[in-house]
Formats: sequence, structure tokens, C-alpha cells
Amino acid sequence: MKALVYEGPRNVVIKEMPDAKIEKPTDVLVKITTTNICGSDLHMYEGHTNMESGRILGHENLGVVVETGSAVERVKVGDRVCVPFNIGCGFCKNCERGLTGFCLTANPGMAGAAYGFAGMGPYSGGQAEYLRVPFGDYNCLLLPPDAEEKENDYVMLTDIFPTGYHATVLAGVEAGDSVVIYGAGPVGLMATISSALKGASKIMVVDTHPDRLKLAEKLGAIPIDDSDGSSADQVLELTGGEGADRGCECVGYQCSCKGHEVPHLTMNNLVKAVRPTGGIGVVGVFVAEDPGSPDKLMKEGKLAFDFGQFWMKGQHMATGQANVKAYNRKLRDLIAAGKVKPSTIISHELPLEKAPEGYENFDERKDGWTKVVLKAAA
Ligand code: NAD
Ligand code: ZN
Repeated sequence: MKALVYEGPRNVVIKEMPDAKIEKPTDVLVKITTTNICGSDLHMYEGHTNMESGRILGHENLGVVVETGSAVERVKVGDRVCVPFNIGCGFCKNCERGLTGFCLTANPGMAGAAYGFAGMGPYSGGQAEYLRVPFGDYNCLLLPPDAEEKENDYVMLTDIFPTGYHATVLAGVEAGDSVVIYGAGPVGLMATISSALKGASKIMVVDTHPDRLKLAEKLGAIPIDDSDGSSADQVLELTGGEGADRGCECVGYQCSCKGHEVPHLTMNNLVKAVRPTGGIGVVGVFVAEDPGSPDKLMKEGKLAFDFGQFWMKGQHMATGQANVKAYNRKLRDLIAAGKVKPSTIISHELPLEKAPEGYENFDERKDGWTKVVLKAAA
């Protein structure tokens, strides 16, 4: 099969790889129709992780079931399914509680497994013609009859829509709250849609890219340009000096200031911009180590975090990978009912063969390159 293979920093190629196949009786084999490039792929693409050369990337996968293992009961050949980026077993202590981002058995020794992901198990990604889905009955979300028509909406259920929603859950967003979201990338924009769904009274989105801020504005947010580093002050001004009720971190440790990575920047801005006793939800990725980081602390995964301010303000914070399965069914039903259209943020639809071009442009955050979806098959 054709697949997008990581061959080293900023070097991904399309090449022939062995076909994905059923390896265990509980597996499902999916013929990929749509698969996305994610901001999380970029940490690997840029060489910031220990991703091994020769592996297939891609964790935002949707397609048609072409084969099922002998122990699969629910999923049938021909079903159109959306596959969460995290792989859960369904029976461990965490999966049982819906915390599928922290499955204890799919990646032994670690909490959490995913497709084509550094440090999250040996599983191949889905930027390919076929994908092996472990624990298929548990992990495949069946799509309704309008699956093909709304494929670009449903594919957002694989990761970024549930992740943006998770940010609002971790922050504790409720009806009437004011919310500040750091990052107007795909995840921040999904947190914007999610805050609106939950009835936020005011949504403020911080970034430095005018095209992305414009998208946030279109989704009903107040855009805040942080080019001069004044975002937290702007939030305070917009909230009568009090600060936002809730804050969402949708950037991660590679957050930057004037082109330089400053890993603690968004976290400290959030502590300043969120009101005393407010909540902060962190879905932007932070890592246990980044030996290549220009920041001395970050090399060891540490952060110059304003903990004193955070403590004095009595804020609370929650973090981590999104438990996609905790939300994807309900968010699917909102798409089916026509209440949300996450595909509005897609900027580019490319054939799988052109994935390397998609990586290069998305990685440069080139004007107008917000979200790339790849079409592997019709
Ligand atoms: P992205 O890189 O396209 O978006 C990040 C945005 O943050 C960019 O628009 C960038 O301009 C902006 N930014 C950079 N520095 C900033 C600063 N100092 N202040 C404000 N904005 C700043 O990626 P994305 O796809 O939106 O993903 C965002 C983060 O979420 C990444 O770290 C990604 O790995 C992570 N992620 C986490 C999960 C999860 O389950 N927790 C899932 C998907 C993605
Ligand atoms: Zn992703």
C-alpha cells in the first residue's frame, strides 16, 4: 500500500509499504478515505521527538471497514467508521472510566496509545491506504447515513473536535462563562466552537497569525493579536480587570514569541489572564523531554511556570491527551443534526500523494494553511 513515511526531521515521503493487515482476532481493517495532518504530527516532523525513521504517520483517520477479525461482533464490512486517535482496550482501569487517552494495556509500560505517534506504541499511522484498528469493536465509531456527504466534518471527530471540547471540559466552561483560548490553530478553533456550544458569554482567542484570528472571529470569538506580547493585558481589559472565568491552552510547549520558542509563555499568560479561582485546561502538548529545545529547562521537560501566581490566585488546572471516546458519539450527533460544522476550518484538501507538500506548508504556518485533509481513496 501507499503510505506517508517519516524518514527524519522535515523529511516525509510517500512510498510503498507492506499492507496493513488483521493481526489479532479483535482487529478491524479500515480502507482509509480521509486522514488529516495534525499539529501533533508537526512535533514529530520537526524532529522534536524520538520518532523512529521508517514509520507511517497519521492519527486522524476515517474510512470503510474492509475486513474484521474473528472476534469482532459489532463492526461489519462496509461500515463507514471514524477512528479515535487514541487506542483504548476498553477493559483497563482507565478505559473503564472513559479515560481512553490513558489506556493501560494498549502500550504496556505507558498510559496511552495512538496511531503513528512517538512514544505511544508501535502502531502504524493511517496516512496510508489501509489501517489496522486494534480492539475494533471498541474503537470504531459508526457513522450515520450522511457519512459520505459530511465526511470532512466527521473526520474532525478523530481528534481535534473532541480535543477542543476536552479543553473546555478541563477548564470547566459552563453557560455564561467568559473564556480565553490560547492558539487559533485547528485545536484552538475547535475549543472556540465547543465554548460556543456550551454557552460561553464571551470567547477571546489569542494568536499572532491574522488569517487564523480571522477564522476565530468568524466563529464568534474576539480575536486578540499577541504580536506585541500584550494578550493577557488585553484579556484583563476585556473582562473589566477581573480576568476570564476559564482559559484553554491549545498551543503546547512549542509556543513562540517573535519566532523564538518560549515554552512557558502561554501557561504564564493564562495564569495572568484567568481570574482568581478560575480554571485552566491544557490540551496543547508538553513533553517529558525535548533534548533539541533551545530552552534549557525544556530539554528536560521542565517549565519556568509562575506557580506562585497560580497558587495565590487559587486557580485550578487539568491537562492531558483528549479522551476522544468520551465525546465523539455526542459530537457526531451534533454534526448529524446540523448544529455544528467543524469542516469550516479546512483550508486544503489534497490527495495522499501530496501529503509531503501539506506537511511543509502547514509546518511553516504559511498564510491560509489552517487544516489539511488528505484523500486516500474515494
Ligand atoms: P497548530 O500548531 O497549527 O496551532 C498552534 C497555534 O498556536 C498556531 O496558530 C500558532 O501561531 C499559535 N501560537 C504559537 N505561539 C503562541 C503564543 N505564544 N500565544 C498564542 N498562540 C500561539 O496546531 P493544532 O493542531 O491546533 O494543535 C495545537 C496543540 O494541541 C499542539 O501542541 C498539538 O500537539 C496539541 N494537540 C493535543 C491533543 C490532545 O489530545 N491533548 C490533540 C491534538 C493536538
Ligand atoms: Zn491530531
